[in-house]
Amino acid sequence: EAHHKVLIVGGGTAGISVAARLRRHGIHDIGLVEPSATHYYQPLWTLVGGGRATAAASARPQRSVLPKGVSWIRGRVETVDPGGRTVGTADGRTIGYDRLVVCPGIQLDWNRVPGMAQAVTAPHTSSNYTYELAPKTWDLIRSMRSGTAVFTMPSGPIKCGGAPQKIAYLAADHWREQGVLKDIRVVLVLPTPGMFGVPVFAEELERVVARYGIEVRKNSELVEVDPDGRAAVIVDHTSGAKDSLRFDMMHLVPPQSAPDWLKETPLADPADPAGYAEIDKHTLRHVRHPDIFALGDAGSSPNSKTGAAIRKQAPVVARNLAASLTSTEPPPASYDGYSSCPITTSRHSMLLAEFDYTLRHRPTLPLIDTTHERRDMWYLKRYGLPFLYWNLMLRGRA
Ligand code: FAD
Repeated sequence: EAHHKVLIVGGGTAGISVAARLRRHGIHDIGLVEPSATHYYQPLWTLVGGGRATAAASARPQRSVLPKGVSWIRGRVETVDPGGRTVGTADGRTIGYDRLVVCPGIQLDWNRVPGMAQAVTAPHTSSNYTYELAPKTWDLIRSMRSGTAVFTMPSGPIKCGGAPQKIAYLAADHWREQGVLKDIRVVLVLPTPGMFGVPVFAEELERVVARYGIEVRKNSELVEVDPDGRAAVIVDHTSGAKDSLRFDMMHLVPPQSAPDWLKETPLADPADPAGYAEIDKHTLRHVRHPDIFALGDAGSSPNSKTGAAIRKQAPVVARNLAASLTSTEPPPASYDGYSSCPITTSRHSMLLAEFDYTLRHRPTLPLIDTTHERRDMWYLKRYGLPFLYWNLMLRGRA
């Protein structure tokens, strides 16, 4: 039977970053279970949908990002037995561990909104949330000259809470450049009462939507789609009123939750239907099973789910896990909920929202005011952050 000192479930942003850091802590016997032969830098998909990057630039062979010395177990984990310290894969293998790191990402629940699964493959609808569909978003945006464009955001935690609105701004700016924005009704549907959870950024985004003339439906949600009739049913949660909008293009973001198999394991909180691995929000260690850590989109910590959060979580997990192998003291490292969201506000500018569990603005670079849209921040998003990701973060160096 296979066994690893540390076993990592998922080789996405979190899994690769943690593996690289554990190697730097001198841990040699690391196994990583990952089904996909391709690793994706998902933040680029917003720019793919906005016609500012190619899909190919977001993908690299899994093998090229896997740290040296880490054993890749090609497969899909389906069960976890914390008592026996083993995981089971979909093809029937059992793998033992001393410490387990759980980071299989979040699941896109296309079927939770009636009509959404069919709509997303229909001609007038797309989503930047998959590699395959992101280029279609750009096709829809650039062929549109008039009519109604709808951009939706579901309620509940999703990865990159800013992505549903970023694409609306990239699209509106393109239509402005083409001189057709005045002929397009742009509707942005948000489940939240404000534009963003942190007031200083919410205020700036109010200015952005006013500039483009975007109609924002707050406290509202898409509850049904008719792909053939091109009708989107939007409910306003404050009044309970339903409105059916006829659209000429729609960008969809599906509701999201923990992977179904994870919800079924003893790692999930049985009282919480979201099903994430139940961890302490500071130490990132499982609350009932001290041999297990979790991070990234599949963890229950209440930070906003981004790669930027993982950049701060990965060193904490690596340090606490390494310490747990040699000591019974409480975990030494603590995560403060840092997350950031680079919100593209036009085809040349960006607002960098940075905050932590207190939901206060928390700038990394104190001398640069990122609470307003900036052109230099655009270069950070397009070139700086991808460089940081591939060359430093995935190598455990940033
Ligand atoms: P992932 O990176 O999704 O990786 C999960 C991995 O687990 C995958 O490789 C998957 O194949 C594997 N896996 C799945 N199931 C199993 C299983 N059963 N067994 C084993 N392996 C499994 N973040 C930012 O910081 N800034 C942004 O601007 C930003 N923009 C975004 C825009 C879009 C459109 C999207 C979709 C995301 C964006 N994000 C952004 C979010 C960021 O991409 C995620 O938060 C991050 O990738 C989460 O990392 P993860 O390792 O938890 O999950």
